[in-house]
Amino acid sequence: MATSDEEKKKAMEDWEKLKAAEKQSLQDYHTELAMCNICAFCRIRCPVYQQVKWESVTPRGKMQILRNVVKGWIKPTPEVARRIFSCTTCQICNDQCDAEVKPFNILKVARKEFTAQGLGPLSAERKMDKRIVEYKNPYKEPQEDRFNWLEVEVPKTSDTLFFFGCVTAYRYGETGKAIVELLKKAGYDFTITPDEGCCGMHPYWDGEMKLSADLAKENIEIFKKTGAKKIVTACAGCYSTFKNAYPELLGNFDFELVHFSELLLELINGDKLKLKKTTPIKVTYHDPCHLGRHSGVFDAPREVIKLIPGVELIEMEHSGRDSQCCGGGGGYFTEFPEDAVEIAEKRVREAEETGADALVTTCPLCKTNLDLAIKRLDSKLKLYDLSELVLEHSE
Ligand code: SF4
Ligand code: SF4
Repeated sequence: MATSDEEKKKAMEDWEKLKAAEKQSLQDYHTELAMCNICAFCRIRCPVYQQVKWESVTPRGKMQILRNVVKGWIKPTPEVARRIFSCTTCQICNDQCDAEVKPFNILKVARKEFTAQGLGPLSAERKMDKRIVEYKNPYKEPQEDRFNWLEVEVPKTSDTLFFFGCVTAYRYGETGKAIVELLKKAGYDFTITPDEGCCGMHPYWDGEMKLSADLAKENIEIFKKTGAKKIVTACAGCYSTFKNAYPELLGNFDFELVHFSELLLELINGDKLKLKKTTPIKVTYHDPCHLGRHSGVFDAPREVIKLIPGVELIEMEHSGRDSQCCGGGGGYFTEFPEDAVEIAEKRVREAEETGADALVTTCPLCKTNLDLAIKRLDSKLKLYDLSELVLEHSE
């Protein structure tokens, strides 16, 4: 496997190519849309197609629909928009397409354009974006309750700001606590901000460009107020938004950005965090699409797992860049919850086939969806955020 640096460089180059190649409107994509040779290689791995089995939601089907829209042969209607937004933003169709259509790039612009025309986002996501405007989080939770689970003092200022994200802050306090405990054990200096709010990921993928840019600007001001130079997050969605969306929305992102798996690796390798053997356990790792394919972080979580004494990592059939989506991204979980959980059930089955005792991930949104799937399947798999697994084995 390539090194983390190589993978990250490749992901960054891919993103920059995507940005450089990104065109202003769907009309500008008429050549790429005509290049689709309907081979269906993209369809094979599209999690949404595998779930609903409709040709119109495959990347190939979406390309045919959009070509007809661009040609003016069909009108962009709410029904057409529903097909276009039936996408978890897993991005695997780009890798699958040898004809260089890069369907995901086109879908990204289509989302913006449909939303600009009032056809997006779909209704549940629209409501979620409204909640984000009103409450700074998608759950309608009070700002003052964001860190209710925090039981220890954290310095008011530091060079490093830990950004938890809405899902961890309001729904996975135990993950938040595990992160703080690990940082304290390692003697790592960090701060948090009581002003932390939504990173803007939902509106960004909904094509709500003004709202996502407003949130990005607001967050940058909040980051600056803390005096931090480095932002660490354990959420794949927040990480990808800061890394990929903020430079696009604002022209730059002047902070060092680190995913918690990378910091954990540094702390363990630097002997700041000591690990001990407990009961031997076999685990498998689920790559969140927004940490892996979108951002190039594949190796750090694996290296951390391999450094834990008594923990054996077994890979799933689809892993790393070839990982299969959990079904939760791009607003799909919000808009199509039943299908999203059934997609997660397939991923859980794949994890079970490895013979692992536990499934580990590095994204609280993947964890939410996988958790529901594990419960519905009555699976014996134990589910961990990487931080929880490390804490369980820390001295
Ligand atoms: S990004 Fe993923 S879910 Fe969306 S069309 Fe491509 S393969 Fe399907
Ligand atoms: S893989 Fe590319 S060329 Fe083949 S059907 Fe999908 S979009 Fe079209």
